[in-house]
Amino acid sequence: MLPTFVRSTPDGTEQGEFLSLDLGGANFRVLLVKVVSGENRRVEMQNEIYVIPEDVMRGTGSGFFDHIAACLAQFLEKMGIKERKLPLGFTFSFPCQQTKMDEAVLMSWTKGFKPTGVEGKEVVSLLRQAIKKRGDFDIDVVVVINDTVGAMMTCGYDDQHCEIGLIVGTGTNACYMEQMRHLEMLDGDEGRMCVNTEWGAFGDDGVLDDLRTDIDRDIDAGSLNPGQQLFEKMISGMYMGELVRLILVKMTKQGLLFQGRTCSLFVLNTYYSLMSLSEDEGLAEAERILRGFGLDPTVEDCIGTQRVCEIVCTRAAHLVAATLASILRCYCITAPCHSPKQETRDLFCLFRFSRRLHKMVRRLVPDVDVRFLQSQDGSGKGAAMVTAVAYRLAIQQAE
Ligand code: BGC
Ligand code: MG
Repeated sequence: MLPTFVRSTPDGTEQGEFLSLDLGGANFRVLLVKVVSGENRRVEMQNEIYVIPEDVMRGTGSGFFDHIAACLAQFLEKMGIKERKLPLGFTFSFPCQQTKMDEAVLMSWTKGFKPTGVEGKEVVSLLRQAIKKRGDFDIDVVVVINDTVGAMMTCGYDDQHCEIGLIVGTGTNACYMEQMRHLEMLDGDEGRMCVNTEWGAFGDDGVLDDLRTDIDRDIDAGSLNPGQQLFEKMISGMYMGELVRLILVKMTKQGLLFQGRTCSLFVLNTYYSLMSLSEDEGLAEAERILRGFGLDPTVEDCIGTQRVCEIVCTRAAHLVAATLASILRCYCITAPCHSPKQETRDLFCLFRFSRRLHKMVRRLVPDVDVRFLQSQDGSGKGAAMVTAVAYRLAIQQAE
């Protein structure tokens, strides 16, 4: 549970041009976001995806931030705005200790990230230093946010009832608006603040041990961050395909699949690819994918594989439903009259996953009227939205 220093959602009067950086998902992106208020209220975006090479991902922290600054320079060049000093919102999707809107100390890397010497450091100043060192452009880093906050804010712009942000992507996490008086670590009782739950780390203290299987333990042992993000490793996109693969290998070793012949499954790094099998695409698709892996599956193999995918996907959806239900419960006790409808946006595009998640949430908290909506580009647009809100509030205060 981490304070985000985000205290208000957009009211629709925000406007201006903003830059945002989206770091920590499947892609690293730089965006130019134009927010127009008034009658023609809209958000226009231009963005570029940049590759972070493997050696930069596993290299030094300074090399990493130099690379980010270089991509930013390239983007500004391309947009022809290198001479302007625009406000920037930084979506940095990792657990951070925040003391202000533009200060975030990285607690630990998660997902596939591992640059050295960044944990325990303040990341906005690392970014500012890297930019200053280049000396060819200047920007004003106004906020640093988590991607869940971005998802919530993006939706909050279209609909002010949205007060929970949920991500099930490469990693998983959620944030929600909480009463200030419930935030013991902060002074002041007035108003509300968004709290980043960092639920991906749920279970790191052992509370999930009864639910975790041998396969979960294997995934953790082979990961970049053993002992950390245990809940995330049962759920998110980065691990689901590997969960499926390990189960298939185990079943094959037991002679239950592929006539006991595992060769290609042993070496595959399947990540996302196997999950598509759990969709309603029929056995032909399962067969096509397995053949793509160099296997010669029987109908039983295809059925078996599909079933494994379904089980892994359902378990993930139900685990997310359980944690989301507890946020909704707590939310409705502490803020019963705030809004009749709570909304969350989920980024998970697997249709069956969302359907299972929604169904289970309704079963767990039948008395809460929850509506799910999909966030359009939460991580990118969201940071610009938070920056825009910060600007609006600064202007209002000055007036
Ligand atoms: C990070 C969170 C992030 C989530 C989704 C997790 O690994 O710890 O900060 O929100 O991934 O990107
Ligand atoms: Mg993202």
